[in-house]
Amino acid sequence: MLRLGCKYELEHIWSEAIRRLTRCFPLSFERFQDVVIKGGTCLAPPVQMVPLDAIDIIGVHRELLFDSLIPPVFYSLAQLHSSDVHATYMDKRLSFTELSYYHDTVETLQAFSIKAFSPILTSTVSRLCTQPSECLQAYAEISKHVVRNGLLNSTGIIRDLDALEADIDSDTELRLCEACLQSFRSHHQDICQQMWNGLGECCGVPCWTKAVRKPA
Ligand SMILES: [Zn+2]
Repeated sequence: MLRLGCKYELEHIWSEAIRRLTRCFPLSFERFQDVVIKGGTCLAPPVQMVPLDAIDIIGVHRELLFDSLIPPVFYSLAQLHSSDVHATYMDKRLSFTELSYYHDTVETLQAFSIKAFSPILTSTVSRLCTQPSECLQAYAEISKHVVRNGLLNSTGIIRDLDALEADIDSDTELRLCEACLQSFRSHHQDICQQMWNGLGECCGVPCWTKAVRKPA
């Protein structure tokens, strides 16, 4: 649609293509969480985006220099198994540089994921914790719960923090005091935002949130 709009200078086709792409790969992490991480639908059925579609979007970027798409696209690509991504490189659908960007993105997401879980991994309760021994026990149960219930994506980032918080509220074994819950939530959101801001460095567009949406 984008290529058609460009080739024949059809403004309405171009605009619709941009609208769809920016819904799937938004600049804001909150929006990206809603449409992608939580598995929401960003396009009207029957058109759906799956991580493998990210490879086609990289092709669009290469052709139209659409920089602001790239970090969220590589985030999606990082959800794929490396053997699938290597297969697309062998098919020449990805360049060697893009393959390197993929690996850098995966490494970055993994590093941030460890930081996001650091309160649990290091057994650090909030300074305002009202029940330290119960909260430490709950941290151990939360770690098991997250893995057992598939709440992590392939890079180890929580897929859906709201779902985890609902589980923490409803399951007495997972229950944290209010101070620890708030502390974990704000820490996780801060780390995710830092990760989001830093994604551009991994894929060659360091100032990506300031990038223009439409090529000149
Ligand atoms: Zn606590």
